[in-house]
Amino acid sequence: MTTVLGCIADDFTGATDLAGLLARSGVRVSLRIGVPDSPPTETAAFEVIALKSRTAPVDEAVDETRAALTWLQAAGAQRFFWKYCSTFDSTPEGNIGPVAEALMADLGCDQTIYCPAFPENGRAIFMGNLFVGRQPLAESPMKDHPLTPMRDSNLMRLLSPQVSRPVGLADRLTVARGPEALRAALGELQAQGVAHVVVDAVANEDLSVIAEACRDMVLMTGGSAVAMPLPALYLADGTLSADAPKAERPTVDAKTIVLSGSCSAMTNAQVADYTRRGAPAYQLDPLALAENGPQPALDWLAGQDLGAAPLIYATANPESVRAAQEKLGVAGAGEIVEATLSACAVAARDAGARRVIVAGGETSGAVTKALGVSQLDIGTEIAPGVPWTYCHSDGQQIALTLKSGNFGSETFFTDAQAKLEAA
Ligand code: ADP
Repeated sequence: MTTVLGCIADDFTGATDLAGLLARSGVRVSLRIGVPDSPPTETAAFEVIALKSRTAPVDEAVDETRAALTWLQAAGAQRFFWKYCSTFDSTPEGNIGPVAEALMADLGCDQTIYCPAFPENGRAIFMGNLFVGRQPLAESPMKDHPLTPMRDSNLMRLLSPQVSRPVGLADRLTVARGPEALRAALGELQAQGVAHVVVDAVANEDLSVIAEACRDMVLMTGGSAVAMPLPALYLADGTLSADAPKAERPTVDAKTIVLSGSCSAMTNAQVADYTRRGAPAYQLDPLALAENGPQPALDWLAGQDLGAAPLIYATANPESVRAAQEKLGVAGAGEIVEATLSACAVAARDAGARRVIVAGGETSGAVTKALGVSQLDIGTEIAPGVPWTYCHSDGQQIALTLKSGNFGSETFFTDAQAKLEAA
């Protein structure tokens, strides 16, 4: 069907997060990994393209995003959403501002909004200042981010050096007066030549007001949360017909493989919980992998009953990770683990696994690549920001869930399996 909203996200887990929130509406949402090579076919009402452009050189990020826009336009989309991180991860050079300006130029639009607020996850904007929980952005752990350290909390000041046209604010007092007042304020700013408008939001109700006021803007930008009300608004005004295809929940065989390459605190707890429950589990040691290769893990896997959803994990505590990194280098340790988990994913699929649970952002990228997955349909939400997805790998329908770092609760691996049974 013709795409109603074309979305572009600057990283993969951000794309999944956005796709999951849009899919809460029940309407079909399709996620593509990278800009597809071929013209759009079998498109969904909501299409999300996941890029890896958050920290790419500005020119590359702009080019990739414009290619994504062209593809989404070919899918029929007339409204677009540019999704970045709810902590506004960027540098004085970009990439949020330059990408937005390039999209505006291609779309011939004079104004867009910036709303990275996500109140459910503790991201709020007041008077243009972004808060992470109770801390201003620049006092949050984001101040020490290795690639995009955020040393200012004021979104107008962060955005100004990234764009060529004027930046302004629609504040919370305006948002609190409702969609009409916000639309009028945006109109006034537009008359003054303000192209880039930061919009305050501290609660979900604010997001509803903003989405209602801005739903007909050609381009909206922000975190995932401000897009969440859009499907219901489009259904209510007929932009999206009531018989638009619903998300399908195909039945897939229960043979399952769980692969964990994340070493976050939460993933460590999830692995501990899963093994405590008696799940069959095999621990990968990067040093042993460097010596013996992946065969011992593949041999172990070959002897497993996939009906018991075995786990293969490299998840380890910070001391073990450091020890492996000292010997193999950070990238070296990461690559050897990712290659092994990818080989295990392919072997499990070939042995009949049709449900694949992956923990780790980078790990997810490696596993989807190995499985040859480039398009996913969003299914049931397991935890906030982590849905089941359906895709094809080597001609087989599989269910895949990709969980980054600290997402999900301690029981995530069993929750995921239970959710699919209930779906
Ligand atoms: P997260 O989403 O938690 O950041 P990622 O998969 O993105 O997880 O990143 C974890 C990285 O750590 C991956 O590159 C993975 O291969 C690597 N890794 C996993 N286990 C180990 C380990 N025991 N020692 C060193 N590196 C590891």
